[in-house]
Amino acid sequence: MKKIAITAAIKNNQLTIDRSIIDLVTKNGFLPIILAPASLKAMPEPQTDFDALILTDGDDITPIFYNEEPLPELRKTDPERDQYELNLIKASHEANLPILGISRGMQILNVAFGGSLFQDIYGQNSGAGIQHLQASNLSQPSHHVNVTPESHLAQIIGNHPYVNSYHHQAIKNIADNFNIIATAPDGIIEAIASNDGLMQGVQWRPDLLTNNPEQEEIFTAFFSQIK
Ligand code: MN
Repeated sequence: MKKIAITAAIKNNQLTIDRSIIDLVTKNGFLPIILAPASLKAMPEPQTDFDALILTDGDDITPIFYNEEPLPELRKTDPERDQYELNLIKASHEANLPILGISRGMQILNVAFGGSLFQDIYGQNSGAGIQHLQASNLSQPSHHVNVTPESHLAQIIGNHPYVNSYHHQAIKNIADNFNIIATAPDGIIEAIASNDGLMQGVQWRPDLLTNNPEQEEIFTAFFSQIK
């Protein structure tokens, strides 16, 4: 059985991971491996005894990892998780494994390859004029995105899908070996893919848009890359 590793966050000394992602992995016939963010001291080089990696949601990313000081608007971060995931991404990339970053997962993927973030969308980006921290339930879409027509993502969800949004950070400078493949109407980056197509990220939560079955295909297309 092929194994898909899924990163977990730690909240109040407990691992947290969304059931929606585990369900997508298992119903497509893969074994989910939940990765706890080990300390750098305990695991300087993360093992990659799995076939693909999913990076999940969570706290803000510590700005030291993209060479910035913390702005007043920065929220809680977990530097140990950040460092673990940065090492994990590098090890997984060296092993040529497909990687899918969801929400924060897309942001840490960008940071791992030298990109940077808006520590706070609204404090740093006067052009950001739509709600990215939606007030309604994440099973409901709340803003549109414009997808690059020739991208693999457009083939799955079309050029102008309606997605959910729950983030106050976003990609500022994109990493060198990545392309922007979707943006919100206010210019905020909503999806990226690496030049080789093996690494991709979406800023929204397709796993929670269960009334929009084409969103699930973001996962099944990712699973089809597993060798
Ligand atoms: Mn958004």
